[in-house]
Amino acid sequence: MNIVVMKFGGTSVQDPAAIGRTAAIVAGRIAQGKSPVVVVSAMAKVTDSLLRCADIAALGEKDGSVALSAELRARHHKTAAELVKDNAALAAAIDNEFDSLDEILRGLAAIHELTPRISDLIVSYGERLSSRIVADAFRQMGMNGAHVDSREVIITDSEFQKAAPIDDIIDKRAPERLLPLVAEGKVPVMGGFIAANERGLTTTLGRGGSDFSGAIIGGALNASAIEIWTDVDGIMTADPRVCPDALRVKVISFEEAAELAYFGAKVLHPATILPAVKKNIPVFVLNSQNAACEGTRIISVAPHCKSPFKSIAVKKKLAIIDIVASRMLMTHGYMRQIFEVFDKHKCPVDMVSTSEVSVSLTVDSNAQLPEIAADLGKLADVKYEGKKALVCIVGEDIRGQNGIAAQVFSAVKHVNVRMISQGASEINMSFMIEEEDAEEAVRSLHAAFFEHPDPVVFDVDARKPLPAK
Ligand code: ADP
Ligand code: ASP
Ligand code: MG
Repeated sequence: MNIVVMKFGGTSVQDPAAIGRTAAIVAGRIAQGKSPVVVVSAMAKVTDSLLRCADIAALGEKDGSVALSAELRARHHKTAAELVKDNAALAAAIDNEFDSLDEILRGLAAIHELTPRISDLIVSYGERLSSRIVADAFRQMGMNGAHVDSREVIITDSEFQKAAPIDDIIDKRAPERLLPLVAEGKVPVMGGFIAANERGLTTTLGRGGSDFSGAIIGGALNASAIEIWTDVDGIMTADPRVCPDALRVKVISFEEAAELAYFGAKVLHPATILPAVKKNIPVFVLNSQNAACEGTRIISVAPHCKSPFKSIAVKKKLAIIDIVASRMLMTHGYMRQIFEVFDKHKCPVDMVSTSEVSVSLTVDSNAQLPEIAADLGKLADVKYEGKKALVCIVGEDIRGQNGIAAQVFSAVKHVNVRMISQGASEINMSFMIEEEDAEEAVRSLHAAFFEHPDPVVFDVDARKPLPAK
C-alpha cells in the first residue's frame, strides 16, 4: 500500500467549489495508484465562529450564541445540499450535531463558565461537520469516502486546547482503524485538530493543529508522503500577504521548516515536522487552488543553496520581560529560580538575553503575565511590555558564513531592535522589535536577501513584479 496522507486546510473545504477541487485532487492521487488518507480542517472561519459562540454563551447571552450557531448550521446544510444529491442522512447528521452543540451552548449560558475542556468540545464541531460532509461529497463524486471520527484514533493527554499526542496508542490505533478501510479501497476522511484523551473526552491540538493531525497520521501509518494542501503555492520566502513578491521555496530541510513554523510562519503548525522527522517521511506544502504547482518539498537533507536564507517568519503578540537584580544576578541557582516561575505558569520562553545584572525574556502575551511578573517580583525588579514581534530569518547555508549578521542588521538599521539572538542551531537569526515595525522589517529583509535568489531552490520564474508605488 502506498499511503499518502493529504491534509486540506479551511480554505480548501470552505464551500462546494473548494470541496469539488479537493475531491479532484484526491482522485488524482488514486489515479496514480496511491492510497489517500484525508484529513480536513473545519470550513474556513468556522473555528473562529465557534469560539465566538462559546464566548457569547459564557457571557450568558444564550440567544446571541444560538443565533450564531444557526448561521453555521445553515452554511453547512447549504454546502451539503449542493454537493450531495439524496442527502437526507447527511442533513440529519448535521442537525444532530448542531442540536447537541446548541444544548451545550444553552448550558454554558446558564453556568457562565467556559473551561478549556468545554471550549475544546464546542470547537470540535467544526471538524466533525466538515469531515462528514467531505466524506459524503467524495462518495457523490465516485470515490469511496469513509468518515472516521478522529477521536477514536488520535489519543492525547488531557492538556485541553494544546493536547499532546500519545504516540504509542496512536501507532496502534491508526493502522487498526484505517488500514482495513484502505485495503477495501475506501478513502478515510478524518477531521484534523480534534482528538480525545484516554477517557474519551474531546481535546484539540491547538490552533492550526490540523497540519499536526495530518503528520501524526502520516507517521503512524508510515505513509510515503504527507501533503499539506493550503491556499498558497508552498512555503514562500515570506508571508505573501506581507511581501507580494515572495517566491516559492522549492525545497527546504526539516530543520529549516520546523524553525520557520516555530517562529510564526502560519503555513505550518509548529509541531507538524516532528512525526515526519521520526519516520523520515517527506512533507509537501501544496496549493489546492493551483494543484499543478509542485509546491514545497520538505526533506531531511536539502540541497546546498547559494542564497544564505530560505524564508522570513514573524511571530506577533509577544511580550518582553526585563528582570533586573542589583545583587549579583549570575549567582548559582538564580536562573533556575527565574525559569521555575515560567515553569509554574506553563509559559514557554522564546528568547533569553542576559547581562551582569539583568535578564530579558520574550514570551507570548497572555493573561497570566501579571501573575508571572508578581512571582518574579519576589526575586528582582520586573518590568514587562506587550505588542512586540519577533522576526526570524532562517537558512542553513548561513552556517559558518562570516558577516551575515552585519548584513541582516544593516537591512533593518532604521528599525529599533530590542533583542537579538542567533539560535544554537545556527540556522536562524532573530530579533525583537515593536509589533508596528514588523511588516516594514520583513519587507526590508526580503528586499536585501531575495534579490538574486538561487534558482535551484527558489521558483524565480514565477517572480511577480512589485506593484508600482
Ligand atoms: P490552512 O487553512 O490551509 O491551514 P493557513 O491560513 O493556516 O492555511 O496557512 C496559510 C497561510 O499562511 C497563507 O495564506 C499565508 O498568508 C500564511 N503564511 C505565513 N507565512 C508564510 C510563508 N512563509 N509561506 C507561505 N505562507 C505563509
Ligand atoms: N480549524 C482549526 C483552526 O482554525 C485547525 C486548523 O485549521 O488547522 O485553528
Ligand atoms: Mg493552518
